[in-house]
Amino acid sequence: MIFRCCVLRMKCDVIFYRKIKRQVCDAESTGFLQSPARRDSVIAMILHMDMDAFFASVEQLDHPELKGTALVVGDASGRGVVAAASYEARRYGIHSAMPMFMARQKCPHLVIMRVRKDRYKAVSRSVMAILDRYSPVVEQVSIDEAYVDAAGCDRLFGSPEHMARLIQSEIRDTLSLSCSMGVAPLKFLAKIASDMHKPAGLTVILPEQVPPIIATLPICKVPGVGKQALEHLSRLGVSTLGDIRAFKPAFLVDRMGKFGHRLAELACGRDDGQVIPNSPAKSISSERTLAADTCDREILRQQLLSQSEEVGRQLRRKGYRARTVTLKLKQADFRQITRSLTLAGPTQSSNILFQTALTLIDNLSLATPVRLIGIGASGLIDTAAPHQLSLFPETDLKDDEWEKVDTVMDRIAKRFGPKAVHRGMGTAESMIDES
Ligand SMILES: [Mg+2]
Repeated sequence: MIFRCCVLRMKCDVIFYRKIKRQVCDAESTGFLQSPARRDSVIAMILHMDMDAFFASVEQLDHPELKGTALVVGDASGRGVVAAASYEARRYGIHSAMPMFMARQKCPHLVIMRVRKDRYKAVSRSVMAILDRYSPVVEQVSIDEAYVDAAGCDRLFGSPEHMARLIQSEIRDTLSLSCSMGVAPLKFLAKIASDMHKPAGLTVILPEQVPPIIATLPICKVPGVGKQALEHLSRLGVSTLGDIRAFKPAFLVDRMGKFGHRLAELACGRDDGQVIPNSPAKSISSERTLAADTCDREILRQQLLSQSEEVGRQLRRKGYRARTVTLKLKQADFRQITRSLTLAGPTQSSNILFQTALTLIDNLSLATPVRLIGIGASGLIDTAAPHQLSLFPETDLKDDEWEKVDTVMDRIAKRFGPKAVHRGMGTAESMIDES
């Protein structure tokens, strides 16, 4: 059964990559991919970086005499397995998790290096330090993989595609290692893209390519679809992610629980997985995909109200005040709009966050329906740090009063849950009138 699943996956891979390569090549032949200037830089894109044959490449780096040789890293004893294989070893059909005795049979002159975790961790830190220089929002997901949020980085590094190329060059030039990168408007597609042209590949999935890619994406390529889910979905006649759309979400939830819901969302091009930085908080945010795309300002204000409360509550719980408030909108066509405002003084008041977000959204014309809305607080200052008094005492007084309200609401939320108490829209509007 395991063998059948592997064969099924390999077949899926070959068919899928041929189709995707054709779509990407079509885009290349039109010159679209080569011309960053033609790409709208406000499209929200996520980068996924994956180091190529990481452990094996580090060994080849530290032992230059082993460059170009079939090499694996792992326990050489009888019961050991391959932890990583160089690309030269992969040509013999050797892959990670293969029993070492089998790898030796496939390649008698195979070089086996023992695992040096500390060395790999040190190199990994250097790689992540490079990524940190490109974006404040980097999420390391394993020793050799990370997501990078390219939003707002275009002024410094150009298009997300150009930014990915710069990252690849810097890793190659400073560490003498190669990585593959995927660029896509959705997190799960960025990961799939980074795997498409290994090693040292760069694959860009443009927003307009998302629907055809989802329609043809083999279900086995979707992160989280394991052996069990694959068998279950095969019985339902599902072979691509697009096939999922034939089923009602309730049916999928009934059969597969929460994961069924996620599959239904992904099949419709909805992946609200954010890039979450693992370093100490640099920003706190809340964002939500709306039940239906809308231009209705009342609906958007309602969302901002609850999101301001959520972000404010987190600021207070984690002991931060924020200097900057950012409004984020993702439109139905995947274009992203972000607007920020830096406050006169740092705050942790839900009301001030809300009022600032309202100012930002009221200055936008909403011609295209909005699919996702979010609010972020950044420029965080530890509340334990000395608080500089404002030059405008009345502003501080108002803030303090609202912070008392926040404290009471936090207590109620802590005791009865976050939905137990919230500000009403009427109150919110009267708050705006006062300002
Ligand atoms: Mg890797």
